[in-house]
Amino acid sequence: MNRHAARVGLSYKQVSPDRLSPDGRWDAIVIGSGIGGLASAAMLAKHGGLRVLVLERHSTAGGFTHTFTRPGFEWDVGVHYLGQLEEGEPLRMLFDDIAGGRIRWARMPDVYDRVILGDERYDLVAGGRRFLDSLSARFPGRRRDLERYLSTLVGATRGGAPFFLDRALPRRLSRLLGPVLRAPLHRHADRTVEEVVRPLVGEGPLFDVLTAQCGDYGLTPRHASFAIHAMVAGHYLRGAYYPVGGSAVIAAEIARTLEEHGSAIFVAAEVERILVENGRACGVTMTDGRVLRAPIVISDAGAPNTYLRLLAPEVAEPTGLPAKIRAVGPSAAHLSLYLGLDRTDRELGLDGTNLWIYPERDRERAFERFLADPRAPIPLVYASFPSAKDPSFASRHPGKATMELVTIASLRWLERWKDARWKKRGADYDAWKAEMSERLLEIALRERPSVRGHVVHAELSTPLSTRHFTAHPDGEIYGLAHTPARFRLPLRAQSPIPGLFLAGQDLVSCGVAGALFGGALAATAVLRSTLIKSVALRAIGRARPGAPARRDEEPPPSEVTAVP
Ligand SMILES: Cc1cc2nc3c(=O)[nH]c(=O)nc-3n(C[C@H](O)[C@H](O)[C@H](O)COP(=O)(O)OP(=O)(O)OC[C@H]3O[C@@H](n4cnc5c(N)ncnc54)[C@H](O)[C@@H]3O)c2cc1C
Repeated sequence: MNRHAARVGLSYKQVSPDRLSPDGRWDAIVIGSGIGGLASAAMLAKHGGLRVLVLERHSTAGGFTHTFTRPGFEWDVGVHYLGQLEEGEPLRMLFDDIAGGRIRWARMPDVYDRVILGDERYDLVAGGRRFLDSLSARFPGRRRDLERYLSTLVGATRGGAPFFLDRALPRRLSRLLGPVLRAPLHRHADRTVEEVVRPLVGEGPLFDVLTAQCGDYGLTPRHASFAIHAMVAGHYLRGAYYPVGGSAVIAAEIARTLEEHGSAIFVAAEVERILVENGRACGVTMTDGRVLRAPIVISDAGAPNTYLRLLAPEVAEPTGLPAKIRAVGPSAAHLSLYLGLDRTDRELGLDGTNLWIYPERDRERAFERFLADPRAPIPLVYASFPSAKDPSFASRHPGKATMELVTIASLRWLERWKDARWKKRGADYDAWKAEMSERLLEIALRERPSVRGHVVHAELSTPLSTRHFTAHPDGEIYGLAHTPARFRLPLRAQSPIPGLFLAGQDLVSCGVAGALFGGALAATAVLRSTLIKSVALRAIGRARPGAPARRDEEPPPSEVTAVP
């Protein structure tokens, strides 16, 4: 087993946080150990010298970056690929800072995504020029359209850095500078993907190929803001990476940084309420009734949990945020089928390229029908091959391979099981899952027939599983829905309640990178001048989230870009 896949964090039930802080005080408490929470905690500890206590309700740390194991196998739950991890990139600087440079990144194949529309296959190739060349070859006569598309995308990503900075400003300063800082992104964020991309490339498969990654933000082109599309598509343009050792290494290595700086993560530690006294956040009440105090509280539990659950209504309502958060609504939920195979990737001919399989032609209609009724045809199967992406997998799990199949889902489908306990939802729930698993697998097997007969473990997670493990109220995976309205929400790192800060994916955007930047912004808002010269602001200032390569160079020569 991966040494990192062991549970990360101290057990709240077995060790009292007081044992680590003899005076019973912490400088900061972070609710939730997703990448946003861990990033903010590590920065506060390392750059601010604060003693930080991270509280995580799950039995292991990492949020969506955690992995789970079954005998002989291990799967990531929310990290399939990351972009912009070349040396010197802001994201890489931040990762190196919070994980002490100990995470190694394996380069994925040049074709990081393959889009399958019916019987046609289209490759998204790393490197802006090669991306253009490859798609121009598939769509003769459309090079100009593709160039216009890419330059619009780059234009949109330029608005990212000032928008991000505004999120970290104190409220008063933001009232002054915010409109100017936010305007460049709003120009693109206020329109949908459909409204921006359709006029550039017209009807037909080119539009469907360019917007196929919509599963990365969970909304179809008619509903998603163009800003999130630009950030995500741009994020991968230079190619993609996967953490060597699987995504569990992320939390494990950040935990080491925290430990080195007198801070700690506690798991199985669920926060019930954020404590507010005299108008100031001053700690948390746990579900066991215990009170833990700190003058700074950072929530990585997501905006809905923070403003609709963890804060008492009489504290949250006057901020005006609960109604606005409800109006935007949650992002998509998903089904994920985790497959264990009894052959190696090589034996099965599997590689690390992700597959976006769209069996239906009318994407908008197909998604709508399926979300209304899961008996309708499955509109998308996204296939990822974690074992093929991780150069260490073969030595850790000899003779095996893994595969993950993901599609969109709705918690509403599962209404009748919503109050039943995990693993005790009954035979009809298990039968429903078995049927959905079969349908997902059949679609994937058309693309990878070599896998047939080699599936020795299959396990489906549903929106109920996501809700159970992460507490996201609708089993959503990307925080708030990335509609144009989301980018107008007045959410910022520093909440209207002094001492309370927000980190994670709801601050700027979904994705590991977006959530990590959200954590860095929260730390910046807390430390202000201390961090001004530090890595967080340098990285954020240089960041054009999702911006494609400044140079259109070839991928790095080695498969693994960093050594510990
Ligand atoms: C199937 C899937 C595939 C994905 N693929 C990719 C990908 O390839 N690349 C990419 O960049 N992104 C991907 N993502 C998205 C990415 O994983 C998330 O956007 C990101 O990890 C969110 O981080 P976060 O810190 O905001 O929140 P989370 O990871 O959701 O962490 C929040 C944490 O808060 C904890 N919590 C909540 N309430 C409480 C409480 N009351 N007390 C204590 N703890 C609490 C939760 O248990 C959770 O651990 C994927 C997500 C999914 C689900």
